[in-house]
Amino acid sequence: MADAPDFAARGDFIAGRFVLPERVAGEIALEDPGDTRAELGAFPFGADAGEHAIDAARAAFPAWRDAEPAKRATHLRRFGEALRADGERLARVIATEVGKPVWEARTEVQAMIGKIDITLGQGLELVAPRVLALGPGQVGRWRASARGVLAVLGPFNFPGHLVHGHVVPALATGNCVVVKPSEQTPATGQLYAELAQRAGFPSGVVNVVQGDGSVGAALAAHRGLDGVLFTGSWGVGRQILAANLDQPWKLVALEMGGKNGVLVCADADLDAAAVAIAFGACVTTGQRCSATSRVFAARPVADALCEKLAKLFREIEIGHSSNNRVFMGPLVSRAARERHARVLGMAASEGAEALVAGGPCDGPRPGHYVRPSLHRLRAHDRASRYQSDEHFVPDAFVLAVDSTDEGLALLDATDYGLAASIFTRERATYERAARGLRVGALNWNAATVGASSKLPFGGVKRSGNDRAAGAASTLYTTFPQANLEHEQPPAPGDWPGFSRLR
Ligand code: NAD
Repeated sequence: MADAPDFAARGDFIAGRFVLPERVAGEIALEDPGDTRAELGAFPFGADAGEHAIDAARAAFPAWRDAEPAKRATHLRRFGEALRADGERLARVIATEVGKPVWEARTEVQAMIGKIDITLGQGLELVAPRVLALGPGQVGRWRASARGVLAVLGPFNFPGHLVHGHVVPALATGNCVVVKPSEQTPATGQLYAELAQRAGFPSGVVNVVQGDGSVGAALAAHRGLDGVLFTGSWGVGRQILAANLDQPWKLVALEMGGKNGVLVCADADLDAAAVAIAFGACVTTGQRCSATSRVFAARPVADALCEKLAKLFREIEIGHSSNNRVFMGPLVSRAARERHARVLGMAASEGAEALVAGGPCDGPRPGHYVRPSLHRLRAHDRASRYQSDEHFVPDAFVLAVDSTDEGLALLDATDYGLAASIFTRERATYERAARGLRVGALNWNAATVGASSKLPFGGVKRSGNDRAAGAASTLYTTFPQANLEHEQPPAPGDWPGFSRLR
């Protein structure tokens, strides 16, 4: 079948061709999280691939940086055409590796295709050169310069879209990239490299190396890079920051985790709020950075909301990624499934009431299947690991609050600052939340998940370091350069104690 996923390893994509590692450092054993009876493939990775890829990218950089923007745009559009032509195959590879249903993986591929035009339009507009008349005969130019060679380290949950979200703006603004996909999604990384190869980028402009966290760590700390564009957990982002403390010239752009909350006010449309919360908590089996895990509900509506949520959580259909009639696939790995079981234990030991028990369950095939879980809390506790940590499983809690002020304060009472939502009919309440909350995304009467590619996407606090991705990413793939320009050199100044040539 033309669209069937291909899991035969071709090696790293360096300087325009695939090469299997000469010195093997390890091997990724790939499994289908929704059917663990057979290994899908084995992806070896090398000790030197990152080094070779950086050399290739460095060699390609001057010509790519100096190319006409129209030439770069032509290659990126061809990349878009390749994605469109092979979109179904890519969606099936993503679905199989991550475990998400194909219908959902297709939306990821659509976002990847859309990213190209958004970057070439809106993205480049953000960094278009600005010219200012500064004084007689003097023009000021504010230009955005390419940084150089950037490593892109990807997460497993959106293995195509979130790698691509850094790669496209990096390339459009004249940088070269070395991509390392997640070790849980090497086949998506490999197909991504094949599509880049088909787009005909000059040799070395796009490189993809396989490997686990050790390969990511070696890349992130490499002195031959000009930047590290990372999407993943706070724990790993912190290690990347630490590894770069003595390289302040290097851009470190961190897109990290979330502990995202929803506030449901007494005047809210409760059905709409319940649907958005259940969707936000359970889509991608709870494995989205923007997933909903904390719900604060005005006391008069809290019971009714819990009832609606319990029904939705209980009735979610679970199945294999190839089954397009189910909403939720398995979790990505055995470790994630065990984590869900631990989260349930944690919630119980901290006195949370299980409204929907959830947790590991049988699926249609042997795999990492779980049912979503829903809890009700009696009190907020900032020190609670259950309430505070990002768990990355389909679990949410509800806590009743006595005022909008209390709800807003609790939304903010987290170390993360990625996404939040407020359900209310009052614009003024939403505007108050937008002014006060330290989150990168605040949605009004909409889920915490489901960001628009036409807006910035990034968090504050432990969620990010103020290099928002999404439509804002061209801002960090470039650095600002200031020019003072004189067609004719100006007359020298009349400075005391400074002699004249004539
Ligand atoms: P992860 O942090 O475990 O891994 C991400 C990438 O980092 C992988 O490619 C991994 O191999 C690499 N890596 C591991 N150790 C490393 C090290 N020491 N140095 C450099 N690289 C290293 O994340 P994950 O489990 O793949 O993804 C889930 C996490 O990503 C969640 O925390 C989620 O919230 C976050 N995420 C954030 C966003 C966002 O836009 N803010 C989007 C998606 C996912």
